[in-house]
Amino acid sequence: MTRTPLNTSLDGYEVWFVTGSQNLYGEETLRQVAEQSQAVVAGLEGLPVRVVWKPVLKDSDAIRRLALEVNGRDDVIGVITWMHTFSPAKMWIAGLDALQKPLLHLHTQANVELPWADIDFDFMNLNQAAHGDREFGYIQTRLGVARKTVVGHVSNPAVLGQIEDWQRAAAGWAAARTLKLARFGDNMRYVAVTEGDKTEAELRFGVQVNTWGVNELADAVAAASDADIDALVAEYEELYDVVPELRRGGDRHASLRDGAAIELGLRSFLEEGGFGAFTTSFEDLGALTQLPGLAVQRLMASGYGFGAEGDWKTAVLVRVANVMGAGLPGGASLMEDYTYDLVEGDEKILGAHMLEVAPSLTSERPRLEIHPLGIGGKDDPVRLVFTADPGAAVVVAMSDMRDRFRLVANVVENVSAPDLPKLPVGRAVWKPAPDFATSAACWLAAGAAHHTVMSTAVGIEVFRDFAEIAKTELVVIDESTTVREFQRELRWNQAYYRLAQGL
Ligand code: MN
Repeated sequence: MTRTPLNTSLDGYEVWFVTGSQNLYGEETLRQVAEQSQAVVAGLEGLPVRVVWKPVLKDSDAIRRLALEVNGRDDVIGVITWMHTFSPAKMWIAGLDALQKPLLHLHTQANVELPWADIDFDFMNLNQAAHGDREFGYIQTRLGVARKTVVGHVSNPAVLGQIEDWQRAAAGWAAARTLKLARFGDNMRYVAVTEGDKTEAELRFGVQVNTWGVNELADAVAAASDADIDALVAEYEELYDVVPELRRGGDRHASLRDGAAIELGLRSFLEEGGFGAFTTSFEDLGALTQLPGLAVQRLMASGYGFGAEGDWKTAVLVRVANVMGAGLPGGASLMEDYTYDLVEGDEKILGAHMLEVAPSLTSERPRLEIHPLGIGGKDDPVRLVFTADPGAAVVVAMSDMRDRFRLVANVVENVSAPDLPKLPVGRAVWKPAPDFATSAACWLAAGAAHHTVMSTAVGIEVFRDFAEIAKTELVVIDESTTVREFQRELRWNQAYYRLAQGL
């Protein structure tokens, strides 16, 4: 079978830059509009997704055709629009109605300063985005078009930063729309929050979620060759501090080889099926000798989405966050709120999982260890042990609220952990914004899950843009959150999202 390596890079993507005008202005003005919009695009060089200039649009047929072309191109992940002159917005109705890709409205102009002494009416005629974009804003709002609006000159780094955030969100959306997710086994028995409507998820996010018997994975693991296992073990010894008992010649080296075979089998299964995310279940391991730990950790670090205990919703978020953070320091991982340090005024959350936390959260060299696992009844699993780097992070959870999906995000700060000599798993220690009590009270009020994606690569703005593109509820707990206001927002959203879906 053909194996397709997972792509997590933004390199193959484009965003198209579209300038609106009309034929009324005459050739000379339209020539200047084209030149100046090319200069704006030149100011967008260096963004992670290449921005491609398109000829100025002057009538409704051209606008609609451009939207249809964008829809048909998998490599074009979004459109940036700018009304340099006045582009009567009824011309945009058919095109905006047809467009199925993320939209960013850049409210900018060619010049920074006004040449006060020289302004004549030709200048006014050419440089009228101040009202051309208002006409465009009206029609977008009237049609209910989801979009991001960015205001300012492209020489302003804050403007570029906002466009980059949106590009990353658009790439995450493109990844979700084409995501195939393999579940090995079902959800952990009796757990509620990891359940969800997989059919609805395919409509809302584009992700295909399907289940395979775990023994199909076990067959792929059994097919791993000794030579491939040797090579992977050598890679482990190069990248990690492998404890002596697991090294070649060590008492428990066979367990490391089992772990390597699980990684090889998982990778071949995922690559052959074109999957970008997967789940496992410790209650359903079939012929696997260990709960996959090391393998899952490394697959998340190489871009895959993962959720434990059958949690496919978190697996989707980990995959999307990996794509949104492509090329940035840090990474994305499954995370679970585990236990608290409740020292007053210095409260912290210790997050981890049984095994499956991605080493992309650390810049340290992880240790590769083996320890017993209290549940599952299998051999002791091998795993990477480390603490996530201190620094800014965000945790995001997805809940199925019956009629829709709700995303809940908390802005957090990962902090240095004390030594944890007896805790043999990857972990993170963080302080949530705005403070522990407010964060936890809001999280519980929102019905948010104990599983999250933790991203140390992208911040909350990228998730906001993603939610806007996905037309999905996102409630954010950050430095400005109060429990009272947050509860009100939840109530309003309850009404808003039902109405917005046209039930
Ligand atoms: Mn869990």
